[in-house]
Amino acid sequence: MTDVDVVVVGAGLAGLTAARQLRSAGRTVRVLEARNRVAGRNLGGALANGVPVELGGQWIGTTQTEILALVAELGLTTFPTYDTGDAVTLYRGTRTRYGDASFGLSETAAVEVGRLQAELEALAETVSLSTPWTSPAAAELDRRTVDEWLRANTGDAEVLAFWDAVVPALFSAQPAELSLLHFLFYVKSAGMLDILVGVTGGAQELRVVGGTHQISERLAAELGDEIVALDAPVHAIAQDTHGVRVTCASGVITAERVIVAIPPALAGRLRYDPALPASRDGLTQQMPMGSVIKIQVAYPTPFWRAAGLSGFAFNLDGALSVTMDNSPPDGSCGVLVGFFEGAHARNAGTWSVEKRRAAAVSELTELFGPAAAEPIDYVERDWMAEEYTRGCYGGRLGAGVWTQYGAALSEPVGRIHWAGAETAAIWNGYMDGAVRSGHRAATEVLTCLDS
Ligand SMILES: Cc1cc2nc3c(=O)[nH]c(=O)nc-3n(C[C@H](O)[C@H](O)[C@H](O)COP(=O)(O)OP(=O)(O)OC[C@H]3O[C@@H](n4cnc5c(N)ncnc54)[C@H](O)[C@@H]3O)c2cc1C
Repeated sequence: MTDVDVVVVGAGLAGLTAARQLRSAGRTVRVLEARNRVAGRNLGGALANGVPVELGGQWIGTTQTEILALVAELGLTTFPTYDTGDAVTLYRGTRTRYGDASFGLSETAAVEVGRLQAELEALAETVSLSTPWTSPAAAELDRRTVDEWLRANTGDAEVLAFWDAVVPALFSAQPAELSLLHFLFYVKSAGMLDILVGVTGGAQELRVVGGTHQISERLAAELGDEIVALDAPVHAIAQDTHGVRVTCASGVITAERVIVAIPPALAGRLRYDPALPASRDGLTQQMPMGSVIKIQVAYPTPFWRAAGLSGFAFNLDGALSVTMDNSPPDGSCGVLVGFFEGAHARNAGTWSVEKRRAAAVSELTELFGPAAAEPIDYVERDWMAEEYTRGCYGGRLGAGVWTQYGAALSEPVGRIHWAGAETAAIWNGYMDGAVRSGHRAATEVLTCLDS
């Protein structure tokens, strides 16, 4: 006789979705969460004037149907990201304002970017989402990094500067840190590049009124304190023919099955008895988290709107590659959100908050003019410094890892099942993918329990 049917490790979207489905199916569940809050990589914050801002994941695209359905079911509402007006691009000290699909690049560079995008998307079409390592050209695609492919396919410095900004914006990692197969898988998993980078019609189209952390908070409230235990970091998982023993800060809980709904890099830090197979252990050693510091700079008004600007900017010269309008729905103050990503994040992570703030304000001033030099507030979150996340947006695979270890990403090990945004075939790395992974793992467990 076990304490519960299933233990879920981690109260992010994946773990809570799984727990909810298991409970609806009549199973007893305990969710063990390391932090003193739920929601993991979704975190609510606020400006000094009380306006809520999200310090973690925030945008939802209209093709992200699982997270949208959950938002609606939980009684939350969305509003459109401000996306009216021109964008700006800064490259080699020249600021270009544009309202078309050129990304503010020179005509030749824009054509070349389009050519490479079409080639990458044609390659992405060949990738299997369920088992990327079995794709027809998997070995060839996994042998190369994104960086190597880009440099082999163009010598145009402006084009390379563009991709060197876009790739970290999507992965929080440098092109040299990513397997081409992983890049293509991720792109296809989201429905191609325009959807990934787009606002209207893309992954950045909608925001949740009050913040996305409320999704997990409402799921946890439904489950109740008896089920969701906070301040309960899991240290060890033992399994035998009778069940699992999950050791957390407050003691040991026994169950028939366990769902580990934390990123692979963190799952690899737990102790397992018996030890995990070499393939799974090897995977967790080779799936590091990305590097990101999310910053938000507030102003008395969204002054760029009056100048006909959307707030969207690409800075190919600076450390904040992408900037967007993140003002509240009523526009009662102006907020620009930006990200130090990949190498820039690792560098800026060694600075003081004051130095990061000054660097961010200086870049925003170059992009949006002198009014950007007078912020009323600055908030940031360094996700590399979070003990129970260790980097964002998610885990990534370098060259060779998908083909050597990919099968171990979501394949259960005995009574241990794996969930989390990193395991999703659709919208991998996103909130939508996290929800899908929770359903997949819960269904897997129910099938085992029912057989
Ligand atoms: C800055 C930033 C921006 C992002 N932007 C977006 C966006 O705009 N749109 C989007 O869709 N996604 C975005 N994401 C990604 C998105 O937030 C994640 O994909 C999603 O929230 C992951 O959910 P999860 O449940 O898989 O993992 P997590 O949210 O990481 O949940 C895992 C949980 O497990 C807990 N945990 C860890 N270790 C242990 C342990 N040993 N024992 C017990 N519990 C443990 C953690 O505390 C956490 O609560 C962003 C992420 C960040 C950080």
